[in-house]
Amino acid sequence: LRHYSRHESDVQTANGASIKAEENDLCNWDGLGFSLTPTDYMYLMKCSKGESAFSQGHLTPYGNIELSPSSGVLNYGQGLLEGLKASRGDDNRIRLFRPEQNALRMQMGAKRMCMPSPTTEQFVGSIKQTALANKRWIPPPGKGSLYIRPLLLGTGPILGVAPSPEYTFLAYASPVGNYFKGPLNFAVEDNVYRAIPGGTGGIKSITNYSPNYKAISRAKAKGFTDVLFLDGATGKNIEEGTACNIFVVKGNTISTPPTKGTILPGITRKSIIEIASWLGYQIEERAIPLEELINADEAFCTGTAITVKPVGSVTYQGQRVEYKTAEGTVSEKLYRTLTGIQTGRIEDNMGWIVEI
Ligand code: PMP
Repeated sequence: LRHYSRHESDVQTANGASIKAEENDLCNWDGLGFSLTPTDYMYLMKCSKGESAFSQGHLTPYGNIELSPSSGVLNYGQGLLEGLKASRGDDNRIRLFRPEQNALRMQMGAKRMCMPSPTTEQFVGSIKQTALANKRWIPPPGKGSLYIRPLLLGTGPILGVAPSPEYTFLAYASPVGNYFKGPLNFAVEDNVYRAIPGGTGGIKSITNYSPNYKAISRAKAKGFTDVLFLDGATGKNIEEGTACNIFVVKGNTISTPPTKGTILPGITRKSIIEIASWLGYQIEERAIPLEELINADEAFCTGTAITVKPVGSVTYQGQRVEYKTAEGTVSEKLYRTLTGIQTGRIEDNMGWIVEI
């Protein structure tokens, strides 16, 4: 595998073609959204039948994988996903943000889904290799980042309802844009529930997402950016968005729902809680009635894709409330601090950055 210089590339693409390109001509860096741009390589690792650990991980050209029709993932949804970013700073150095946290979250999810999982070392090593092999796809400073999507899949054949006999870990990558394009306008969803106590809401199971498409597309058709889910047990408390955690600001206090199994323990959420407390805010992790969001001074969401994004409005049963999103908000301050650390503009005193 070659290592590419910043300005020239000569690589095999997934379809076998050899291309030479100025890095800046690879794609329209200014037009990146959150959509798939296939890159050069992906990382693959297997846990074979009768084994309990992953081994023989390697890079391979990005492309289709072969699956048994009776694989556990296709038949019973035995699978997990993760998501993290590699960013190029103004100093041109490449940084991963807390990748060991994604490894730990995958391990936690794997236990819940009766799967073996890569060790933290294997996971972080695979992410580094995936980012480096696709280095020419890491956008220039300020234009976005390389989103890395690890998957853990039950790929062995199984007919009865039971854990798969074989597993595949893979990681692929796509450049994505900065995503800070205006505030979130939420429709509160009071018909579809994302998670229930004892369910899988607290892990990144692949089964947690498509059941929400109906609610999301209904909201999008009405002009909303996302849905806000309520708790499945009482329907009274706010939980999270499709792929982001929510925070509510009142005075100097920032509150967010607790991670007790029905919301995803976001790595951005965890980092924002720490940043906000250094900045002197009072942090509360507790059940938040919808009423409190409606009466908040400000609200914002966090996630790897969106980093920190203000909530512009929340609509519940036809009633719309709006929040301030202009300069000087708490969310803006947190956004600047978090992205400053992620891009190297602010010193990382926490050991959150893994340089590659
Ligand atoms: N909630 C859900 C349901 C998600 O899918 C995500 C994205 N991973 C998040 C919250 C945010 O988590 P993170 O900050 O780790 O990206």
